[in-house]
Amino acid sequence: MVQSFEIAVFEGDGIGPEITAPTIRILEALAKQQQDYGLAFSKAPAGAAHYAQTGESLPVASMETARNADAILLAAMGLPSVRYQDGTEISPQLDLRIELDLFAGVRPVRVVQGQPTPLKLSGGQSIDFVLIRESTEGLFFSMGKGAVSKDEARETLLITRKTSEKLFRFAFDYAQQRKALGTGKGRVTCVDKANVFRAFAFFREIFDGVAKEYSHLIADHAYVDATALWMVEKPWLFDVLVTENMFGDILSDLGAGIMGGLGLAPSADIGLNHAVFQPCHGSAPDIAGKGVANPFAMILSAAMMLDWLGTKHNIETMVSDGAKLRDAVYQVVADGSVLTRDLGGTSGTEAAAEAVLEQITARA
Ligand code: ATP
Repeated sequence: MVQSFEIAVFEGDGIGPEITAPTIRILEALAKQQQDYGLAFSKAPAGAAHYAQTGESLPVASMETARNADAILLAAMGLPSVRYQDGTEISPQLDLRIELDLFAGVRPVRVVQGQPTPLKLSGGQSIDFVLIRESTEGLFFSMGKGAVSKDEARETLLITRKTSEKLFRFAFDYAQQRKALGTGKGRVTCVDKANVFRAFAFFREIFDGVAKEYSHLIADHAYVDATALWMVEKPWLFDVLVTENMFGDILSDLGAGIMGGLGLAPSADIGLNHAVFQPCHGSAPDIAGKGVANPFAMILSAAMMLDWLGTKHNIETMVSDGAKLRDAVYQVVADGSVLTRDLGGTSGTEAAAEAVLEQITARA
């Protein structure tokens, strides 16, 4: 029996539409080869250009499309030139996180043989860990609510037991899955600053409580400053890292740097009922419309979507298609002959995506 999934597509601004089109083509090609799942895509207009045209950045109808979908694929939203009247940027992706309670930001950091990285890896060494960033509270809870007077400014960080417990269970389940697949060691590290802030001592205490439910996995802690150092010095030791929103925001860009830039950094924002899959990069207006954007982070995000849907609905072919898609991208990267400019090549968006499609067809 074919199980069909509705995918809400936010192609957004800048390079968004250019990287969305080939990604959907690849997903359709994968699904066409399978008997047990199908994908239907519904476009959801939103973003800065939409705001400039209509005065709405996230129309109610688009929010409904997102809410009713089985998963949400999002390219990039926001343009520096288009702002709300108070001067802030248009970021409907942040509204989606809050509206749909997407508390777990999943940021894989992966470096395979042949992939350009600023780190010096010895022969055969690779990097494969996942950063899980709480995405609805922490210091970002204060967004737009900070108190600023002439002489001082204050922002308040929020850590709740309810969200932290959900987050830590998510992290341990994720580590368990990675261990079962042979990609992880079954280890979760709580990244905090518990030696200085009471809020982080509270965060750590909740982590330790949840860790007791997963006694078959390894649970440990690291301070955020030491984690930043180790991400550069010995990143191959990590498995699953879980942290507060602002720490996660910063560390995930460090992760992207390790991976040779934003062009290979996928992400997922996951809640109990909904999930958004989007590249870590923004709308890159400086290269929009030129056909040179790297589609790989978007394609890798789509691979995470297949993995998440397949795991949730127990469809093995969908999980293996997710892995197939991810491996195809890394094969093209390792091969090195069809790379976009940001990765040191000369190819355009379409050629890079086509190379991934060829890999998939070759593996069928
Ligand atoms: P945001 O704040 O919306 O995350 P940003 O200001 O951090 O965005 P990006 O839009 O991610 O910036 O762009 C940062 C730089 O990286 C730009 O020079 C852009 O051209 C480049 N860049 C981003 N994404 C890609 C991509 N997919 N392919 C090639 N270059 C990219």
